[in-house]
Amino acid sequence: MAKKLFIKTYGCQMNAYDSARMAEVLAPLGYARAPGADGADLVIVNTCHIREHAAEKVFSELGRLRRLQQRRASEGGRMLIAVAGCVAQAEGNAIFARAPYVDIVVGPQTYHRLPELVAAAMRARIVDCDFPPEPKFDHLPEPRADGPSAFLSVQEGCDKFCSFCVVPYTRGAEYSRSAASVLDEARALVDGGALEITLLGQNVNAWHGEALAGGTWGLGRLIRELAAIPGLARIRYTTSHPLDMDEELIAAHRDEPKLMPFLHLPVQSGSDRILAAMNRRHRAADYLRIVERLRAARRDLALSSDFIVGFPGENEEDFAATLDLVRQVGFAGAYAFKYSARPGTPAAAKEGQVPMEVKEERLARLQVLLGEQQAAFNRAWVGRSSDVLLERRGRYPGQLAGRSPYMQAVHVRAPATVLNSVQRLRIVSAQPNSLAAEIEEERACA
Ligand code: SF4
Repeated sequence: MAKKLFIKTYGCQMNAYDSARMAEVLAPLGYARAPGADGADLVIVNTCHIREHAAEKVFSELGRLRRLQQRRASEGGRMLIAVAGCVAQAEGNAIFARAPYVDIVVGPQTYHRLPELVAAAMRARIVDCDFPPEPKFDHLPEPRADGPSAFLSVQEGCDKFCSFCVVPYTRGAEYSRSAASVLDEARALVDGGALEITLLGQNVNAWHGEALAGGTWGLGRLIRELAAIPGLARIRYTTSHPLDMDEELIAAHRDEPKLMPFLHLPVQSGSDRILAAMNRRHRAADYLRIVERLRAARRDLALSSDFIVGFPGENEEDFAATLDLVRQVGFAGAYAFKYSARPGTPAAAKEGQVPMEVKEERLARLQVLLGEQQAAFNRAWVGRSSDVLLERRGRYPGQLAGRSPYMQAVHVRAPATVLNSVQRLRIVSAQPNSLAAEIEEERACA
């Protein structure tokens, strides 16, 4: 009988990717993913350190799991608990001090060793938070596509050291997979039914992997090679840093129709003073110039971004510069957060921390503006046609749901036969966060 594996995933797509790969690594040992932790043989809490009080949230989740673990033991079974991801990397052995019932602590660079760790944990608690010289990707099994849209991690770690961010400490230095291994994985995903691949990296456009015939390629060249894979319909990449938007990548937006015309390009602030304090190494004007070049390359390109409001030292003038940048760019969507200190980062110790009520008030103003822009972007699609990748059943009978090229959620009444295909849909109405559509012309499924 299959052993039950439950993985609780916090955070971004990179963690979702890692969770899927952990399940693949453990499959040869007989572990199959279960929908919940109750009755599981192994529970992995795959953590994220980006959000506020991340470690506290993990420990309260572990407390809940402890009760399930005890119940399992009272029934004569055993539930192993593993903590993975960035909180595991940051806390290491300290996790055992607060949660001695945890069996495994494993960092983001060593989860390919989970089979050995699980075997060792049967005897004693174990921690593995190395940064091994051999990348984990060399040891992971061939991935399986789970639906028409797949993630593919091409880059990990970061050398930028933005002063608010824990990633360089928890994920380590920048590492790029070779083009050959990325292309092999992409072909395997497409063979398994993937129509869309999203390339992932903490700083994905810093990718500079070993080329097929020696030397290195940049992300733009990699995208061109991926675009040549028959059957692959869509390519995306996330998350990018403005400094790494080079000519070749911008040209890929111009030349590769498979590269979706939607780019998540975090700017964080519109104030040069705050950008310098964040160690972003670009100014607001640099960002605007990059946006201009991107839009010159691809007229229909739309952008989303990340903003941090109330960074230490931010005054009303700085915040006004952020609002000004938002008005100049016009975003199709964005994520805005109040600044909150991450232990161990330079910004956490900065003077001039902004009072909570000021942060909340500024965040509300920014979100109103961003919300208006997103709603306007969505409204502009009413009456137009869009290619939508229909990837799941909708909430109502006969309804399917998918994503437009711009990552808009689209709902349509359509036969289940067109699930897992790209269909041309006519947008009939828009909500702030989604679109409703009808089928314009049914295309044969690949
Ligand atoms: S570029 Fe992104 S991942 Fe790297 S330090 Fe800055 S915010 Fe963190």
